[in-house]
Amino acid sequence: LAVRGVQALSPYQPGKPIDELARELGLDPADIIKLASNENPLGPSEKALAAAREALSELCMYPDGNGFNLKSALARRFDVDMAQITLGNGSNDLLEIIARCFVDSDSEVVFSQYAFAVYPIVTQAIGAKGVSVPAKDWGHDLDAMAEAVTDRTRLIFIANPNNPTGTVHGQEAIESFLDRIPANIIVVLDEAYCEFFEGEDTPDGLKLLSRYPNLIVCRTFSKAWGLAALRVGYSFSSPEIADVLNRVRQPFNVDSIALAAATAVLGDEDYLRRSREVNAAGLKQLERAFEELGLDYIPSVGNFIAVDVGGQAMAVYQSLLEQGVIVRPVAGYGMPRHLRVSIGLPDENETFIKALAKALEAVG
Ligand code: PMP
Repeated sequence: LAVRGVQALSPYQPGKPIDELARELGLDPADIIKLASNENPLGPSEKALAAAREALSELCMYPDGNGFNLKSALARRFDVDMAQITLGNGSNDLLEIIARCFVDSDSEVVFSQYAFAVYPIVTQAIGAKGVSVPAKDWGHDLDAMAEAVTDRTRLIFIANPNNPTGTVHGQEAIESFLDRIPANIIVVLDEAYCEFFEGEDTPDGLKLLSRYPNLIVCRTFSKAWGLAALRVGYSFSSPEIADVLNRVRQPFNVDSIALAAATAVLGDEDYLRRSREVNAAGLKQLERAFEELGLDYIPSVGNFIAVDVGGQAMAVYQSLLEQGVIVRPVAGYGMPRHLRVSIGLPDENETFIKALAKALEAVG
């Protein structure tokens, strides 16, 4: 019954839920570690929790459909105009809204091999053609992506840093890419993981907005800000683009509890600092362990890392599951030898490392 684009879709595969695995293994859910969905291992910010609890008293009221308080807080923090902001039910919602606004079934949408799975999904759902450009050294081949543009291209998705590879392109590379893209094509810089990366030449799409009116920068409260359950994403763009996105967006796409918690967490600098610290230490801990186990990994700047566990990756994944550790297979991304593991707390990382060593031994 579904239209052709929808029939051709492969569904998004989320990380295996803890309760489901607990039931399968007959284990207490508390004994299971989930390092599969790039969630924040710190648990939520106390400030966000308090604001969420307070918002519960307004449960019978519709949310503020324009998200005034959250937009004001975002505008202050990032020094943008409120009219440049669009809120989404997670940044996934924004990715879909953007595709619906700018793409039709005759269009082409360009993204990279190994790019985030939602890009082909929102493209195909519209019946448009996804153009997946071969990656270079696990990162985006930006030159090849610019060359893949045709007169049918309407939209380009770039995750920077990228999930699931954890690769990143510096500001200069992004700028010279944008210089090559005609202004009638929308470029989405998806910066879901940007808070975790502070290096030389740290990219920042916000600094490019005034020069590239076709640019949309998407970010999320799901990762460094620790609010994945509440589903809050936001985008920065020109006011004209934001106006278009806001017309298509569902009127109440972000609920009151989410709005309150996200507004509060923006004032919790300490939480953000701890998120970054725990992540940087965890990345090092896992890299060291992979080196000791003789495993190749893709150096990552995100809150996850893809490790090459050999030709039996699904068997390794299965063995990890049996030991109560959930990670993410990425064969669906065309990476059949890798598993993607999210960075946990130090003892969670340690449990994962021990379970991985066992799994590798069992698989042989
Ligand atoms: N973009 C990228 C690159 C992601 O990895 C994710 C989450 N996996 C998202 C967007 C969507 O995040 P959310 O909808 O939770 O904001």
